[in-house]
Amino acid sequence: MTKANYGYKDGSGEYFITIDTDLCNSCGKCIDVCPASVLKMAEDELDPLGDEVIAVVSEEHRKKIKYSCAPCKGGETELPCVKACEPGAITHSW
Ligand code: SF4
Ligand code: SF4
Repeated sequence: MTKANYGYKDGSGEYFITIDTDLCNSCGKCIDVCPASVLKMAEDELDPLGDEVIAVVSEEHRKKIKYSCAPCKGGETELPCVKACEPGAITHSW
């Protein structure tokens, strides 16, 4: 099991999105439902010799995901990205 962690820790908590690169089947559904374009498809950074394209957190959001994801976090329903991911590859630390 290989997990890619994107995010940061600050005085208010830990904000990481983890994508299990083994579970991601490259379907792209999480990208379609993300209202803030936090997620995108890219080559697997943890497998530089591989050519698999999987979901990753865009570079521009990695240092601000607490804010990028805030609109989704307000509700009581499951997060759109987590809900869309059938293999359950996406987890959030907060
Ligand atoms: S919580 Fe919302 S904004 Fe954040 S990655 Fe998931 S769908 Fe995108
Ligand atoms: S929805 Fe899940 S399986 Fe599909 S691309 Fe996103 S992380 Fe990968």
